[in-house]
Amino acid sequence: AADKERLASVAKIKVVVRKRPLNKKEITKKEEDIITIEQNSNSLTVHETKLKVDLTEYVEKHEFVFDAVLDEDVSNEEVYQETVEPIVPAIFQRTKATCFAYGQTGSGKTYTMQPLPLKASHDILRLMHHTYRNLGFQLFVSFFEIYGGKLFDLLNDRRKLCMREDGKQQVCIVGLQEYKVSSVDTIRELIEKGNATRSTGTTGANEESSRSHAILQLAIKRSPDGNESKPPRIVGKLSFIDLAGSERGADTTDNDKQTRIEGAEINKSLLALKECIRALDNDQVHIPFRGSKLTEVLRDSFIGDSRTVMISCISPSSGSCEHTLNTLRYADRVK
Ligand code: ADP
Ligand code: MG
Repeated sequence: AADKERLASVAKIKVVVRKRPLNKKEITKKEEDIITIEQNSNSLTVHETKLKVDLTEYVEKHEFVFDAVLDEDVSNEEVYQETVEPIVPAIFQRTKATCFAYGQTGSGKTYTMQPLPLKASHDILRLMHHTYRNLGFQLFVSFFEIYGGKLFDLLNDRRKLCMREDGKQQVCIVGLQEYKVSSVDTIRELIEKGNATRSTGTTGANEESSRSHAILQLAIKRSPDGNESKPPRIVGKLSFIDLAGSERGADTTDNDKQTRIEGAEINKSLLALKECIRALDNDQVHIPFRGSKLTEVLRDSFIGDSRTVMISCISPSSGSCEHTLNTLRYADRVK
C-alpha cells in the first residue's frame, strides 16, 4: 500500500533534459557552450547566434522549462535517481515503465542509457531478495533493436524477429531470447554482448547504431498462485530505449536510397512516439501506437498503469545549435 501511494506521486510522464560537457573536438574547433542552466532550476536557455541582413551578429535567446534539467556535472547515478529509481518498486505492482533517450548522434544517449538498466536491476534484485522475498518473482532480460522498421535480437546473433499480439493486449515478439537472471554481473555481460552485436551490425560501423532503436527490457514474472509448475506470467516491465539519432529522421533527401528509406522510417517512429506520449499525457482512450513499429512494440507499455520518462540529451556546442533546438522543441511538445 505504501508503494502504491508512492507511485501515485510519481508523474505519469516525465521529461528531463541532460546537457553533456563540450568534448575535445568541439573545444579544438573553438565552438562555444551556448546552453546556460541556472543552478537548481528546471529551465535552460539556448543562446543562438544569428545574422542580421547587414551580416552583423546578434544573439537570440530561447528559454525552455522541463520537469528537470541536468547540467554537465550531473553524474549517471544522479540521472538514475532523477528518472528511473522512483519507478522501480512499481513494476512489482503491474506497472509498465519506459525510459527513452532522445537526441542527435553524439549527444550522450548511449552514455546516459547504458548504466540505467544495471542500476535498476540492482534495485529490482534487492527488492526481490528482501521486500518481496519468497513471493516467487523472477527477473528476465531481453535486448533487441529496430532497424529500418524490422526487429533484430541483439542477444541472438541479430536474428530477425517478428511481432504479434496475443489477444490479451500483450505484445509477443516471436523467437526473442529472454534470459532469466539473478545477478547484476550476468545482466552486465548480456548488455555488453548486445551492444557489441548492435554496433558491429551489418557494416560494423558505429554509424549504423545511430540508425536503430535499441530496446532493453527487464521483465518481472511470477507463476500464477505462486505455483512454480505453471509458466511464469508477466507482472511488470521496465524498458530502456536508446533511440536512433534524431537528426537521422531528416535523411529523407539523401542521395542513397537505403538511407532515405531508413531516414523516413526513423522520422515516422519519432513522430509516432511523440503522438503516443501526448495521447497518454492527455489520458486519451485511443493511443495511436500503430503509427510505427517502435510504438507498436511498446503498445503494452502504453496501456494500463504506465510511466514514461523521456531523457533528452543535448550537446552544449554552438555547432549543434539547430539540432539542440529541434531536440528541445520535440521534448517540449511531448509534455
Ligand atoms: P549518442 O549515443 O547520443 O550518439 P554517446 O553516448 O555515444 O552519444 O556520447 C558521445 C560521446 O560523448 C561519448 O564519447 C561519450 O562518452 C561522451 N559523453 C556523452 N555524454 C557525456 C557526459 N554527460 N559526460 C561525459 N561524457 C559524455
Ligand atoms: Mg549511441
